[in-house]
Amino acid sequence: MTATQDRVEGLREQLVAWRRHLHMNPEVGFEEHGTAAYIEAELRKMPGLSVSRPTATSVLAVLKGGLPGRTVLLRADIDALPIHEENTFEFASRTPGVMHACGHDGHTAILLGVAQLLSGDAAHVPGEVRMIFQHAEEIGPGGAEELVMNTPLMDGVDVVTGLHLNSQLPAGVVAVKPGAFMAAPDMLELTIRGKGGHGAHPEETVDPIAVGAQVVTNLQHVVSRMVAAQDALVVSVTKFTSGTTHNVIPDTAELMGTVRTFDPALRERAPQLIERVVRGICDAHGATYDLRYEFGYRPLINTDWVAAQLKDIALDVVGAERFRDARPTMGGEDFSAYLEKAPGAYFNVGSGSDEADSRWPHHHPRFTIDETSLETGVQMLRAAALRLARPE
Ligand SMILES: [Zn+2]
Ligand SMILES: [Zn+2]
Repeated sequence: MTATQDRVEGLREQLVAWRRHLHMNPEVGFEEHGTAAYIEAELRKMPGLSVSRPTATSVLAVLKGGLPGRTVLLRADIDALPIHEENTFEFASRTPGVMHACGHDGHTAILLGVAQLLSGDAAHVPGEVRMIFQHAEEIGPGGAEELVMNTPLMDGVDVVTGLHLNSQLPAGVVAVKPGAFMAAPDMLELTIRGKGGHGAHPEETVDPIAVGAQVVTNLQHVVSRMVAAQDALVVSVTKFTSGTTHNVIPDTAELMGTVRTFDPALRERAPQLIERVVRGICDAHGATYDLRYEFGYRPLINTDWVAAQLKDIALDVVGAERFRDARPTMGGEDFSAYLEKAPGAYFNVGSGSDEADSRWPHHHPRFTIDETSLETGVQMLRAAALRLARPE
């Protein structure tokens, strides 16, 4: 056993205590006042850190190392979700309707653990390590964008990294990939305007439900007939609301959906392809429409050399048998905002196990993590900070 593993094991109980406190006291994006106060108080117990609040609910800890080196940013997101927890363990959420159902409680505990280890060893740390506890990942346009645009957080940062726990990977597994890792999550909102009337006399109406149904099915032709199979695109209509009762054809139908891409050129083109289908179908049936399209987070594209270093680190920390080449996911992440300003890479640490009953999907009311993944996260992120801060 190495000295580092030893120290991480010494942190085990503390990591679990941090995570459980956060899990019991979840707060949604931009409202993380108690969470930020708790994080700040814990960081202030650690020597050698300069602690500040870049925004009302985010916390920054900066460690100046004793050796020359680069400036590395480590990021954890801290916000919870508007979900009512169905877990019954004693540290389940105490706030009805709010839950840490994405693992950000774990990310926060991991980064606190890294701060503790680095602060105890500052003389041997190269460069400068900035640790940002970021608010509001789950709410667009997101806390990362606010920090990047409105604060000096990224000034002088040479490289950035961070992780997401992943319940679909076995606990302790680390997954990284160069290049496109997570998609841009864009949003569409569509109102179809027809002409209501009696359900018995559709010929006197323009039925927005019938038109909307055609739009829903034809939008899949954008994916399958207008875009090359190699270019990832997802169009999902996720909301379709219309009508009031069995014998009335309504005036309007309201649809919402999500559009996911990696490729910036395809991302630009998608709204036009979608609108062409909507316009054609509405025209054909005598309906009109309003289409609102909103660009969300950018796609998360890992910098190749940083991803390669993270892979090396993972091979050291968890070994080849627990390393995976990550599969790209169509999920979105506001970590992408940092990558607009500096090279970097994002990686996954598995948190799923049968023992912990932690294979539920993220954002599920039964979501939880195998807490042994916290130690893996600390080992990875600490090693990443030291390696990435080393002067070239
Ligand atoms: Zn989430
Ligand atoms: Zn998340």
